[in-house]
Amino acid sequence: MRNPVTRLCNAVKAVRAKFDEPLRLELSLVDHCNLNCKGCTHYCPIAPRHLMPVAEVEACLSHLAGVDSSMFSYIYLLGGEPLLHPDIAEVCHLVRRYFPTVGIKLLTNGLLVDRMDDAFWAACRDTDTVLSVTIYPVKVDYDRIEALCRENGVRYEVFHQPKEGRFFSKHVIDDVNPGSRHVNFLRCHELGCLTLRDGKIYPCATSAYAGLVNEAFGRRFEHTAPREGRRGGDYVEVTAVKSRADLSRLKERPTPFCRYCTRIEPTEWAPSRRDPSEWL
Ligand code: SF4
Ligand code: SF4
Repeated sequence: MRNPVTRLCNAVKAVRAKFDEPLRLELSLVDHCNLNCKGCTHYCPIAPRHLMPVAEVEACLSHLAGVDSSMFSYIYLLGGEPLLHPDIAEVCHLVRRYFPTVGIKLLTNGLLVDRMDDAFWAACRDTDTVLSVTIYPVKVDYDRIEALCRENGVRYEVFHQPKEGRFFSKHVIDDVNPGSRHVNFLRCHELGCLTLRDGKIYPCATSAYAGLVNEAFGRRFEHTAPREGRRGGDYVEVTAVKSRADLSRLKERPTPFCRYCTRIEPTEWAPSRRDPSEWL
């Protein structure tokens, strides 16, 4: 258990980071995944199969780029597992077309990389999309993935790697005894990476995907709709975004949903048993 001074310093650092960090956007392309990780922070083990249609991707990107095509420093393509999306190459091209200067990273568990076709590799290369791989304790030849990237002229990086057995953070959410949204936001680990899902932008994946917990376990995590068309709620409708400030506000201030985020516990990787205790 960390002492109170360390906890306070960490909280101040986390809040400062929320203000200092440039805007970054996660495009949630696929809800489901081909790995089954206990406590997955995107709730993939309990997610039904669901893809974001390319037409919806384009409509969202087109609107946001019309507001400000340089407002994001990075756009992340992820899920679930984004390589399960049949039009992933087209998505890379769309992001680059609407956001010519943004950094693009495709976050993958790597399981499908050696089955990707030439169109995929060409899209990554031509759009300067970085293949950002998380190294899980499963049988995947990560050296082979790095070599494939090299052969195809695609940038490769390791996004996350296990350290001292603390592979995951379990984000405990609680709809029975919620806390203070302000206190929870102060302790929050999220660095303001916005998540776009189903036409709405949320301050984090925890909030964006919480509906999956309701569906799987009959829980009652509720989202508050924005007031005055776009402010004060848990999300912003993409079509209601009128300025960069609309999104900055979302990442810099606690939202009503923050009351559910009671604590974070380091945990080791294991296959999910789809048990509520992995998340609740
Ligand atoms: S690989 Fe990533 S997205 Fe897939 S279940 Fe594991 S943690 Fe979730
Ligand atoms: S809902 Fe709020 S406290 Fe919870 S992870 Fe998101 S930003 Fe952090």
